[in-house]
Amino acid sequence: DSFSSLPLTPAFLANLDLLGYHKMTTIQEQSLPAVLEGRDLIAQAKTGSGKTAAFGIGILHKLNPAWFATQALVLCPTRELADQVANELRRLARSAGNIKILTLTGGSPMRPQIASLEHGAHIVVGTPGRLRDHLGRNTLDLSKVQTLVLDEADRMTDMGFYDEIAGIVSACPARRQTLLFSATYPDDIRRATASFLVNPLEVTV
Ligand code: AMP
Repeated sequence: DSFSSLPLTPAFLANLDLLGYHKMTTIQEQSLPAVLEGRDLIAQAKTGSGKTAAFGIGILHKLNPAWFATQALVLCPTRELADQVANELRRLARSAGNIKILTLTGGSPMRPQIASLEHGAHIVVGTPGRLRDHLGRNTLDLSKVQTLVLDEADRMTDMGFYDEIAGIVSACPARRQTLLFSATYPDDIRRATASFLVNPLEVTV
């Protein structure tokens, strides 16, 4: 149950220790070995389970800080969750050099977001509506995304974001890793999202 059993760098492990993450949570223990190998994942897990670090460690493991392209995209249902996820990613990324993490959510003016995108971001965390706006204006390039995360997929679907999500997913490369997290995983969400994932590992905690 120790992070040191995973193929992570000593600097990354030292940062986890500094954050007080001494043992993996259940979701991390069950998903991280497969996630670090590049496998797709469907995880039925709630807030508080350590799910953010589970996908955050997966994203950062693959990310190349020297490549100024958006290599990871995290879709969240709300601005509050997007801010929370971005903060956790920043803490996890402290040992990894200069990694730019940008939040793109509604309710904030477009222009500063466009200016930030022009400077480049390694990781984008955003809500479906605003991400669609950026795609429609050609201000967001998702063609280099290697890791796509759908966080709280059930809430996003409940909020009626399905069409936006499908459009965003199709703007990402077909060859990518997709990680889906959902507190519940009813049949309608299973059917709606099946085409986003390839041979996913399914984990319930
Ligand atoms: P989450 O489920 O992602 O909202 O995470 C819940 C809380 O657990 C957050 O405050 C994380 O910082 C914390 N956390 C995540 N992984 C670990 C871990 N392995 N050990 C201790 N705390 C953790």
